[in-house]
Formats: sequence, C-alpha cells, structure tokens
Amino acid sequence: MNITTPSKITVRKIPSSRINEVNFNSLQFGSVFSDHMFSCDFKEGRWQDPIIQPFGPLTISPAAKVFHYGQAVFEGMKAYKDDNGGIFLFRPEQNFKRINKSAKRMAIPEFPKELFFDALNEILQLDSEWIKPGIGNSLYIRPFVIATQAGVSASPSTEYKFMILLSPAQAYYTGDVKVVFSEHYSRAADGGVGFAKAAGNYGAQFYPTNLAREKGFQQVIWTDSHSHEFLEEAGTMNIFFRINDTLITAPTSDRILDGVTRKSVLKLAETLNIPTEVRRVKVSEIKEAHKNGTLMEIFGAGTAAVISPISTFGHGEKIFDLPVLEESYATMFKSKLMDIQYNRSEDPFGWRYRVL
Ligand SMILES: *Cc1c(COP(=O)(O)O)cnc(C)c1O
Repeated sequence: MNITTPSKITVRKIPSSRINEVNFNSLQFGSVFSDHMFSCDFKEGRWQDPIIQPFGPLTISPAAKVFHYGQAVFEGMKAYKDDNGGIFLFRPEQNFKRINKSAKRMAIPEFPKELFFDALNEILQLDSEWIKPGIGNSLYIRPFVIATQAGVSASPSTEYKFMILLSPAQAYYTGDVKVVFSEHYSRAADGGVGFAKAAGNYGAQFYPTNLAREKGFQQVIWTDSHSHEFLEEAGTMNIFFRINDTLITAPTSDRILDGVTRKSVLKLAETLNIPTEVRRVKVSEIKEAHKNGTLMEIFGAGTAAVISPISTFGHGEKIFDLPVLEESYATMFKSKLMDIQYNRSEDPFGWRYRVL
C-alpha cells in the first residue's frame, strides 16, 4: 500500500522487517542496511517523486554518467537513541549545507532543505527500531547523489538521484591506530575537490592506503601536494595534534574537508579554555616535538569514529610511538561529544536535533 505523507513523500513499507536477521553485537561498519531507503529524482529541471521504499537494488542505465565520470557526492551522519527512546541527530544542518557545497563543486543541482529534513525525519521514524540505545550504538546515515542520465559524452548529467541509506553501527575503529605521513601521494590539490565529499576523492586513496597497510599502518595522514611538508588530514577524519597542552589543527581550505567533528572539538576546546591554534602544521615540527617529549597526542576527528586516538606514526623509514596518557584530550573530547549526541548532558550550543 502506498501512503503519501504531508511532505509529499510516497511511503511503500516493507511487508515484514529484516531486523531479526541482524546480529547487532557483531556489526561490520557500513555492511548491513535497514529496511527502507529514500530516493528522489532530478529531471526536467526539478527534484521530484520523493519515495521511501524497501531497501533494494536500483535499475540504472550502464551509460549513466556516474559510472563514467564519477559525478557523485555523499554525506555521513548518525542517529542516536537515548534511554527513553528519543532519537537525535548531531548538527544535521551542517551536513545539509555540506552536501550542497559538494554538489555545487561537482555541477550537481542542490537539494531542497525542507525535503532533506522531511526525508530524514520520516525514514528514521520508520526504521527507528534499527537504532539501538547505548553509548557507541548508532544508525549511520548515508545521503548521496549520483548522476543518472544515460550518455557517455563528458558533460554534466541532466538527471540525478538523491538517496538516503541507513546502516546500524557499533563503535568504530577500535584499538591502536597507526598512521603514516604521506611522502609521495596526495589526496587533494589547490583548486581541486578535496573540500567536497566527492566519491572520487575516496577511490583515489585506496591504492596508497593499501601500500601503507602492507607496511603495517591503518591510515595515511595526507600532506600538502606541493612539498609534503605540511600535515593536512586523514582519509575520512580531520587531524589534531597536542603539543604540551596546546591543541593544533590545520585550517580548512579547498584541500581539507570542513568536518563537523573538527569544528565541534574546536568549539569545546574554546569553552574549556584549552589553548588552540588553527594553522599549518609541519611534519618537522611534529617530529621535533616527539623528540623533545612535548608531543602528547595525535587524534583523528570524524563522524564515523568520533575521535580516534593515534598510537604511532611513521615517516620515511622511522616509527614514532606516542605516550599512553591517563587523561587524554582524545578521551575527554570523545566523552563530551558523545554525552551531547546521546542526550546525556546539556546542549549549550544547540547541536542536538530531535527527530520528530
Ligand atoms: C567526512 C570527512 C571528515 C570528517 O567530517 P565529519 O563532518 O566530522 O564527519 C574529514 N575528512 C574527510 C576527508 C572526510 O571525508
């Protein structure tokens, strides 16, 4: 049965939920999807036919431009459930703005705000059982847009599909994270698309990341493409350094993604009177600080893992271990952010968004 909601989204419910087939205690990040998905098509110059329907395959022409020219952007956000069953998003307005910023750079038409929020509210209500309460549990939300017009001429598509998928998640990236500072490969360049969550940015990292894995590192910290002397960010996380008590992170630019977690950490640091410096960070400076014992921490910040403490970094043939701290900034920021996300603390900045 099709129901049309006040927001004009057609809803076609799954006949019976697949939720009982899922083991929520051994979820591999991003591999299981909830019962429903949202989609909306852009054609004849406007977004139309918004629908929530059972998760399943799409039928798309093999000539669709996304397959040939990579016209695709995405977002990553999470829904959290508190102990009373309340469902919350964290700063979703930021994700909305960013998907349109990414879209614009890839010549993709912007998606309307009201529909973005109506779609999120409705699909999250429908699949609310897929959000488990408890710290660390969440429902990862993947909005994305692909170019669907058939035709292999290298020009922007006239048709697109906007979709939202939901994937239940447990805590992400556990254990010691070992990273290597890139000396040869680059993620982004001036004037490029590094600031956008454009699909090709991620595909291009797989090969150099595989090389790093063969050497025992899980992630690459990308450096500037000119000199490889300045530390920029990780594949899906912004990077923070703590020297003595000062927190340092690179400024956002057209090469560095403007992460929601990054800006939330900076805001929390400000209110906690932690000295922060947003400036370029030299590889040599970090190695020097390691040598003289002032480098206390390095951690990544991003929606998937919230905060990922880094235990070791490599540069050239050298390996540098970081101290194990009793009271780290990483742990402190992680718990402060999660307390806000899970509705366990005050929300002085208005970051929580209650799903209707
Ligand atoms: C998504 C992403 C981040 C983190 O952004 P959040 O909004 O905090 O999730 C950082 N760097 C890159 C390259 C990313 O794709």
